Amino acid sequence: MNLFDLKGRVAVVTGGNGGIGLGMARGLGQAGAAVVVAARNEEKSAAAVEELGALSVEAVSVRVDVTDSSSCRTMVEEVMQRFGRLDVLVNNAGTNIRRQPQDYTIDEWRTVIDTNLTSAMLCCQLAYPLMVEAGGGKIINIGSMMSIFGASFTAAYAASKGGIVQLTKALATAWAKDNIQVNAVLPGWIDTELTRRARGEIEGLHERVVARTPAGRWGTPDDHAGIAVFLATAASDFVTGSTITIDGGYSVQA
Ligand code: NDP
Repeated sequence: MNLFDLKGRVAVVTGGNGGIGLGMARGLGQAGAAVVVAARNEEKSAAAVEELGALSVEAVSVRVDVTDSSSCRTMVEEVMQRFGRLDVLVNNAGTNIRRQPQDYTIDEWRTVIDTNLTSAMLCCQLAYPLMVEAGGGKIINIGSMMSIFGASFTAAYAASKGGIVQLTKALATAWAKDNIQVNAVLPGWIDTELTRRARGEIEGLHERVVARTPAGRWGTPDDHAGIAVFLATAASDFVTGSTITIDGGYSVQA
């Protein structure tokens, strides 16, 4: 028995058209899963599907705005029409708006919470009956160092990512009886479009991250391939409600 085999499984990765999501998609696909790249930018999604195809991964894209419940519903319907199953859900779509807490508008707050947290709940609710019917499933939620730490400009983001950890624990306890494992991954500082913007805006960020990270570097999207495979396969069947850091030691450095 190959504990890490995903042949015949279907994995949906929200925000799978770039960054960490695409890194996870590459891992899941190379372990044998068919991958659904689910995001808004269709050009980026098409490029991601092509890239996965070049790795001999069966991949399709579905347009979704995860802040819109009917769009999420349509996405899941399309997955079922195309593949007839949904085994792995990666709630990776995310965004950030950096402000001091007193400066957030309520719309900015809601954009971050809806994109990062409410979307995960929505997609989990939609996936749940399909996973129950299939006899089980795997859900991977993406947290952050801001699930653990605070920073002055991250009130909305930290609230959403702290919420992801607690949502993960609640779903894990509720759905263990259905053989659905729900876990969260907390990436450290990873080189993606999201943080490239932050590096441009925050002077000295790049150097501070390298200095504080015991591994001495930023993470890459491909650093997330292995953990995605572990949490999506039989290798993790008794792992649920966990939060796993992928941060080169950032969070354990005194
Ligand atoms: P990217 O900006 O590269 O990726 C974000 C992805 O989310 C894109 O694919 C984007 O696709 C998608 N997305 C954003 N909003 C929506 C929406 N409303 N509906 C559907 N898809 C959406 O950033 P990362 O790869 O860095 O981020 C991925 C996840 O990892 C996020 O949850 C982020 O918070 C988290 N994270 C990142 C860290 C880092 O250092 N980079 C550290 C810790 C956590 P599109 O625009 O096409 O919709």
